Amino acid sequence: MQAATRSEGESARSGAPPAGGPARVLLVEDEPGIVDFVRRGLEAEGFAVQAALDGPEGERLALAGGFDVVMLDLMLPGRSGLEVLAAIRRARPALPVIVLTARGEVEDRVAGLDAGAVDYLVKPFSMAELLSREVRFEGEPVLLSTTEFELLVFMLRHHGEVLSREQILSAVWGYAHDPATNVVDVYIGYLRRKLARDDGTTPIFTVRSVGYRLGGAEE
Ligand code: CA
Repeated sequence: MQAATRSEGESARSGAPPAGGPARVLLVEDEPGIVDFVRRGLEAEGFAVQAALDGPEGERLALAGGFDVVMLDLMLPGRSGLEVLAAIRRARPALPVIVLTARGEVEDRVAGLDAGAVDYLVKPFSMAELLSREVRFEGEPVLLSTTEFELLVFMLRHHGEVLSREQILSAVWGYAHDPATNVVDVYIGYLRRKLARDDGTTPIFTVRSVGYRLGGAEE
């Protein structure tokens, strides 16, 4: 995520995200310590943060609009995070959702990603993890999510090598996953769009029936 650099101004509270003003984050989280930590950290970086402390309130605010991104805890009073996520995906499919999970709750990550979350953060997390890292490609800044960044770093470490989906999955997501998952392909797609050159080509190649390669002979 990156804070908007435009000056603060009007702030629409409903409808489409406001055109001006800081990027608005909806934080749906029932642990006051995390709400406080995230709010202070993001506001220091120029984001506007609104917190919802339970599932129904989070869902109501997310669907009402006006937010650029939602950070969503999964264990919430009133309505689970996955239910809230499903409602957001139906009503606002383009609204990015970052799922917050407790350490070790691998099933949460899988369920969240399968349900359409764009990324996840394992609690406790640092502000450095929360604020995505900037990468430059062909001289232009590219904003990557935590997962996209980790995927790119892994591929850069194995530049020119063919990497299977299983290798990428275990290196970046850190667990054995249902082999039917398409999460690797989805994230390769995100990276390709962000690393596309003006002529539409990208440095990430598909190696049919094996996996992917960053850079190498055909470039
Ligand atoms: Ca919780």
